[in-house]
Amino acid sequence: MKARARLPTLGTRRKRLLEQQAALVALTRSDVFNRENLQQALQLVTETAARLMNVERVSLWRYSESRSSLRCIDLYELSRNQHSSGAELEAGRYPAYFEALATSEAIVANDAHSDPRTHEFSSDYLTPLNITAMLDIPVHLHGRLKGVLCHEQVGPPVPWTAEDRLFGIAVANMIALALEQSERKRAEAALRESEQRLATILAYAPDAIVVLDVDTLRFVEGNGQALRLYGLERDALLCVGPVELSPERQPDGRLSSEVAREKLEEALAGGAPVFEWLHLNAAGEQVPCEVRLVRLPDAERRLVRGSINDIRERKRLEAEREWLNNRWRLLLESAGPGIYGTDTQGRCIFINRSGGAMIGYTAEEVLGRDMHELIHHSLADGSHYPVDACPIFRAFRTGQPCRIEGEVLWRRDGSCFPSEYAAYPIVAGGVIEGAVVSFSDISERLHAQNELRRLKEAAEAASRAKSEFLASMSHELRTPLNSVLGHAQLLRRQEGLLGSQVKALNIIQQSGEHLLGLIDDILDMAKIEAGNLDIVADYFDLHRLLDTIGAIMRPRAEAKGLAFTAAQCADLPTVVRGDERRLRQVLMNLLDNAIKYTRGGSVALHVELQRGRIRFLVEDTGTGIEPEHLSEIFNLFHQVRDPAVLVDGTGLGLAISRRLTRLMGGELKVASTPGQGSRFWFDLDLPAVKAPIPANESRTAIAVEGDQRTVLVVDDEKDGRNLLRELLAPLGFEVHESADGEAAVRDALRLRPHAILMDVRLPRLNGVESIRQIRCAPALERTVIIAISAGAFEHDRRQCLEAGADAFLSKPFRVEKLLDLLCTPLKLRLIYAQEQTTLESAAPPVVPDGEQLQRLHDIAARGDIKNLLQQVTHLESLDPAYLPFVAQLRARVAAYQMKELRRWLKSLRPAGHECPAR
Ligand code: ADP
Repeated sequence: MKARARLPTLGTRRKRLLEQQAALVALTRSDVFNRENLQQALQLVTETAARLMNVERVSLWRYSESRSSLRCIDLYELSRNQHSSGAELEAGRYPAYFEALATSEAIVANDAHSDPRTHEFSSDYLTPLNITAMLDIPVHLHGRLKGVLCHEQVGPPVPWTAEDRLFGIAVANMIALALEQSERKRAEAALRESEQRLATILAYAPDAIVVLDVDTLRFVEGNGQALRLYGLERDALLCVGPVELSPERQPDGRLSSEVAREKLEEALAGGAPVFEWLHLNAAGEQVPCEVRLVRLPDAERRLVRGSINDIRERKRLEAEREWLNNRWRLLLESAGPGIYGTDTQGRCIFINRSGGAMIGYTAEEVLGRDMHELIHHSLADGSHYPVDACPIFRAFRTGQPCRIEGEVLWRRDGSCFPSEYAAYPIVAGGVIEGAVVSFSDISERLHAQNELRRLKEAAEAASRAKSEFLASMSHELRTPLNSVLGHAQLLRRQEGLLGSQVKALNIIQQSGEHLLGLIDDILDMAKIEAGNLDIVADYFDLHRLLDTIGAIMRPRAEAKGLAFTAAQCADLPTVVRGDERRLRQVLMNLLDNAIKYTRGGSVALHVELQRGRIRFLVEDTGTGIEPEHLSEIFNLFHQVRDPAVLVDGTGLGLAISRRLTRLMGGELKVASTPGQGSRFWFDLDLPAVKAPIPANESRTAIAVEGDQRTVLVVDDEKDGRNLLRELLAPLGFEVHESADGEAAVRDALRLRPHAILMDVRLPRLNGVESIRQIRCAPALERTVIIAISAGAFEHDRRQCLEAGADAFLSKPFRVEKLLDLLCTPLKLRLIYAQEQTTLESAAPPVVPDGEQLQRLHDIAARGDIKNLLQQVTHLESLDPAYLPFVAQLRARVAAYQMKELRRWLKSLRPAGHECPAR
């Protein structure tokens, strides 16, 4: 290192001075301070100072913001020709030095170790760096101490000269200049940046922003949005002010200029007015806006910034909302049911007029009130209704909707009404905001429902009464009819009847059957109306049914002089599935009418296949039916007839027939030409069945083959008992009688009969109960029980079967039907009239010897049937070979053919003789 020259001579001093001045000028000229980089400028300064003053270390320090320390921003070491920075001096550690900096123009310390201003550095700074003398010049900027320029001699000290001090001051000033320049540049850059930012913000602001000179009432600035809002170019905008861009008056009727001035004055006075303003754009359209004004600081002009928001869309939405609100209110108010809304606390937020009227409050009185406490606080019995048990509460608490019927709501006057209500949560953005409840007073509806129930019960009671009446009437009529028809059947079996007697019996039988038909019709109609007439799906021989019907109707037609045809197509199935009884009833009824309403010509029954179904057609050449009556003839009790012509009938036949056909799956149709005749037809599905041909019930049983059986006949009517005794005894049954239920049970236990024929309506213990008790006795478990009743309803039959009867027979019954029901379970064989012929025509039976034959003949001649039957039973036990003989004899007894019996006995050759020639 080159040491500073000691005590310079005058010439030297002069030379250095000149050098220093030249350097200062060079520094100034080099425009070092206009350099972008302050650090470089400062380095040039420290380096120049070190060289010119020949000082080892020249450094520049700056105060921290808090002024509590100095930080080295550049240190130049001459001998090493090296710059460094970063060291720090704490003001707290070097108070004397910092004090001196603040108060003096320069710290000139020729002996830094001893100088009171610098000796604080001695041990930890001066000594380690071998610094001996210091010249420190404070740097001021705008009168404020900003830092310090330090010159430090290393090695033996040379006293600082006045030139050194002046040069130092000059350099410090230059540094202050550089700092100022740099700060100004930074401030200018910051300003530019900030202006740039502001311009960007303004340009991209969503609002229209204008700046207005209050004194000229002209715009001086406007962003892109403002230009778009007014529909003006920038230059055009700057030529006008808010008054030109507004209608003369604002919507409230005030002059725009007046209101504008008022608002601008308010902003100038420091306020920030926000208000709605109606602008006019360049196209002359009115643009509703929201304006915010605020004063802008400006030294020369009175400026106000306006931010303007186009609120056309907001206004439109508001108008729409208002319209919707009005509609909604209209709907709410015109709605019949009461409607109210609650918040999440159950407080009323609205209620419609009819809701208010129902509970006796006006809307104003209800708003804000707790609705549960107001109208739903108690149950119908007056007990407290806790709110957390209330479904409406759940609707606005948990969002669970509900619909409840029957709870009561309370009116203002303390009365209540039964209600139906529904509550739905009001949900917005997934959050429950309350509930809307609609409710109505259902008193009238409940009243109507009760009335309806009462009427229905009354109607049901009436219908029950009607059914009971019909059942009992049917019963009362059938019981005597049973006797009439039964006895007529018995009498007709007797031989030797006179022609007139047979005729009378026929009349009795026909009249009885007619009467029975009427009762059945009325009963059927009642059953159809009550919906409990069942169609039975059993199988039957269709050919035999048609033959029987033909056999019955032909004589009737012929008796009236009418031709009768029954034609069937060849491929008609034989055994079919269906309800034989109901089909017979319909066909008989149609044929009956055909004969009834035909005076001359013919009646025909055609049965043919028609597209897989069977068509039944009844045709006549009778009176025909007027077209206007065609639809009426199927009505109940409807009769269309010439009053002059007397025809019997009830007007029930067709009504029943049509309903029965429907129940069987068909439709009864009619075509008729007045004066020419009528055709009635219907098609039925009667599927063919592969089954053996059912037994023919219409045959006449004349004898029973098998062991003698005991039968207990139970009937409170003596006639009824007699009828059965007279029917069964000749056929070989041992008949006992009981006149009431209790006696029946007793006698059954005592006699242990093979079969019991039990009338259902009995004194003391009725038939159903008697059957039940009999069935409880183990000894009578296998006894055949046949219930016989004049009750013709399905439930009569069901009751008996449930009690334990094996079969049910309704009165009046056909004798053969009874015998079939009785004999089949008792394993007895019935011999029919037809078979008798077969028996007779077959080889003669094995006959007893002459003596026995004679005895039988004598007993028969006396008419002692009981004895006769005892004899044949005895014969049966002697030898099974006699069985055919016994059967033939019994058949004649059963048919009451006593004369014929005697003749037959006489004709027989006793055993051991040849067969008589036939
Ligand atoms: P009725 O007991 O009077 O015969 P129906 O119900 O059987 O009752 O018939 C109703 C009416 O239909 C009868 O009164 C009659 O006027 C008319 N009618 C029924 N069948 C015939 C027919 N084959 N020819 C003419 N008229 C008929």
